[in-house]
Amino acid sequence: MDVLTANQIKELRTALEDERRRLGASVRWLTEGERTLGESQGEETHAGGEQADVASDLTEQTLDLSLQRAERERLAEVDAALEKIDKGSFGLCERCGGPIGIDRLTVVPWARYCVRCAGKGVTGARTA
Ligand SMILES: [Zn+2]
Repeated sequence: MDVLTANQIKELRTALEDERRRLGASVRWLTEGERTLGESQGEETHAGGEQADVASDLTEQTLDLSLQRAERERLAEVDAALEKIDKGSFGLCERCGGPIGIDRLTVVPWARYCVRCAGKGVTGARTA
């Protein structure tokens, strides 16, 4: 496959490793934040805390959880992409086997599908 040069793969691997570091720190921070929030809520209740504070804490917790889930999913995709670099299948669409293309990979290094297949997956009605 003439899809990517060794240099391009090297650059994308660096981008993926940077992203993994960032996500790893983010997921850790969110997980710790969740635990701290739970503890501080207990203290507030003990001290006779206010209703409004509890409500806003819950909203923040919900946001944190969905963010955490998104970050974890992204982390799994980044890991899978790094694995594919090792296996030599990086840059190929998982659906049609065609090249994903450097333009797309530069923007989304962990992309699993080419633009065409990703488009099909999102909107089933789109037929070219
Ligand atoms: Zn494809």
